Amino acid sequence: MSSGENSRVNPVEGSSRSPIVDHQVPAHPQAVVAPLSRYESQKRRDWNTFGQYLRNRKPPIPLSQCNCNHVLDFLRYLDQFGKTKVHLHGCVFFGQPDPPAPCTCPLRQAWGSLDALIGRLRAAYEENGGTPETNPFGNGAIRVYLREVRECQAKARGIPYKKKKKKKSQLKTISGSTRQDSRQSAS
Ligand SMILES: [Zn+2]
Repeated sequence: MSSGENSRVNPVEGSSRSPIVDHQVPAHPQAVVAPLSRYESQKRRDWNTFGQYLRNRKPPIPLSQCNCNHVLDFLRYLDQFGKTKVHLHGCVFFGQPDPPAPCTCPLRQAWGSLDALIGRLRAAYEENGGTPETNPFGNGAIRVYLREVRECQAKARGIPYKKKKKKKSQLKTISGSTRQDSRQSAS
């Protein structure tokens, strides 16, 4: 007689429900995360990048001790990832917006990118508990630096950053054209 049958693997039937499964109660009923806007997600990425940069400093810089000099160092650090050719003074293409040949001048972060980046980080800093008074991104030294970058890049690349004035000359209306009348009177 073979008494042990292993064919029935599940001896527990529907009668006894396991209490473990129903144990967890969702802490946040509205767990659906709304999709972030492009600006918001970019801002979050920038903030993470900056936080990582501070942690990787030697020694690491706590956010509470972060000042405008750290921000300036961060901006200079980003230049190595830049894609904007900024000609040096000795370069023959200095001041040319569209050079006909490649040169060995360095690539930098474009002024507009840095300006937008600072704006996002400035907002992120205060959203993450920083006060406007201590916000290193709002420091005047950052504005001065950005202005210098803008002027330097404008000269090197020959791009005027002044606001364009609309020309009125093209809109001159031709008045008093009475050619048809003068021809008719010829006969
Ligand atoms: Zn060049």
